[in-house]
Amino acid sequence: MKNCCASNDLKSQKSPRKLQCPNCDNMSQSVSFDTILFHIDSPWLHIKDNKNPSDNNYYFCGNRDCELVYFDTEGNGFNKKQMSKSTQESLFNDVKTICFCYHITEKQIKDKPELKDFVIEQTKSGHCACNIKNPSGLCCLKSFPKN
Ligand SMILES: [Zn+2]
Repeated sequence: MKNCCASNDLKSQKSPRKLQCPNCDNMSQSVSFDTILFHIDSPWLHIKDNKNPSDNNYYFCGNRDCELVYFDTEGNGFNKKQMSKSTQESLFNDVKTICFCYHITEKQIKDKPELKDFVIEQTKSGHCACNIKNPSGLCCLKSFPKN
């Protein structure tokens, strides 16, 4: 957890870190299966065979207009409707969530830019869980507007 803002070293380096979404061609970043488990609703309903899904390298499509949220290199994937309610809300509502650890929206950061300092401080203290809570598995700070 402490190093969630460092580049995440995935166990398998065989697959590329980025891959195009098969549905919308958006460049998608690899993501750990732990992150996916946190965001999908009722994982046991969606993981069909008994094969350990973490064997596959999964990717997160960050395109809000794309039906596909997670996909792997073998044609498996998880779509919008398979996400938990709160993940669906934070990903696809009109009010875009920027920080998933502290529930900060794009609008809030526009109105109160100093919120970024708060998040930086918290992140430095290791009080964030971006690698799980952010659907992309990346540090939320990357999504904050540069000032
Ligand atoms: Zn896509």
